[in-house]
Amino acid sequence: MATGKEFWVFSEKQNLLSELAAGVRSLVDPDEGLVAAVVWGTRQESEQAAGKANRVYWLGERPQDALVEDCVPTLARLVQEQNPYGLVVGSTRRGKAVAGRLAARLGVTVVTDVLEFQPDGDGLTARHMIWGGGAVRLEKIASPPVIATVGPGVFDAQIVQSVSPGEIIEVPFVEPEWRLTLRERKTRPPAAVNLASARKVVCSGRGVANMQDLSMIEELARLMGAEIACTRPLAEGLDWLPRERYIGVSGAFVKPDIYMGIGVSGQVQHTVGMSGSRVVVAINKDANAPIFAQADYGIVGDLYSVVPALINAIKARRGT
Ligand SMILES: Cc1cc2nc3c(=O)[nH]c(=O)nc-3n(C[C@H](O)[C@H](O)[C@H](O)COP(=O)(O)OP(=O)(O)OC[C@H]3O[C@@H](n4cnc5c(N)ncnc54)[C@H](O)[C@@H]3O)c2cc1C
Repeated sequence: MATGKEFWVFSEKQNLLSELAAGVRSLVDPDEGLVAAVVWGTRQESEQAAGKANRVYWLGERPQDALVEDCVPTLARLVQEQNPYGLVVGSTRRGKAVAGRLAARLGVTVVTDVLEFQPDGDGLTARHMIWGGGAVRLEKIASPPVIATVGPGVFDAQIVQSVSPGEIIEVPFVEPEWRLTLRERKTRPPAAVNLASARKVVCSGRGVANMQDLSMIEELARLMGAEIACTRPLAEGLDWLPRERYIGVSGAFVKPDIYMGIGVSGQVQHTVGMSGSRVVVAINKDANAPIFAQADYGIVGDLYSVVPALINAIKARRGT
């Protein structure tokens, strides 16, 4: 066990908070240490968190116009008072800002984009991505407090054993010296997909020449009962698919039973997000595409021939 002390988790996203609480549980000695969730949100959110953690530090209700980073002074004071072993922050845009600002206040570093923690003597070693996912570094964390960020889908929320509801401790909020002003809020359509829990994923890459051609891939995904995903260029830049559908270091992490990459080259920033897939199928017209190094089954061919052939084969087999 890494620690007999408190390991904290924080995220403004409830699902991610549950994943983090589940993930750090194995790092805490149940007889001596505990998992605590830090919540700045509704009372109901703090009660939900209490179902996942042994203790909740509740910073109170977050005002509608407050940005998540405004809780950093409160977090910093809490860390100084309670001296936890570590704090794992959900790696969202706001979460990264919280982790960075908090670490700067405390004079410690942040270990970003952690993929795994391994107990290491009295401390911890973190396996984490660097250079935008271009490499993975093993970093021994010598001295607490450990501040780290972990993205969605890295830990499995399902593995959390039932925990008797933790105590909720109300923490006085420390007003920040200066506040970010929220000028405008634009509502994005609600996320239609939770890729992290998808059992089958069909992922389109830049090999798809036109947005209209995605309908062919969608048909294949529908026949397979798979979720549609994509590489980053299709979601950021081309805007063919919503951002929550792209896989990779800056997108979602998936661990499906089947991942099928269609016209995906297999750059490392993408593959770190799908390397937990059980079976990888790749369709690419370039036999040297890096994705084939990860593939269990590879089809070298033009997706405009291969995908219709697969659709026809599935339909023929089903007699439809
Ligand atoms: C800091 C940073 C973070 C990033 N984060 C992410 C991330 O989270 N997720 C992500 O996906 N990317 C990310 N990227 C981008 C990443 O580096 C790659 O550029 C991207 O993954 C490439 O997407 P792609 O495979 O769709 O396109 P390409 O690399 O252009 O590959 C297209 C592939 O399609 C094949 N192809 C073309 N036509 C056909 C056809 N007709 N039939 C079959 N095959 C065909 C080609 O042979 C090629 O292999 C990041 C980059 C940076 C710098």
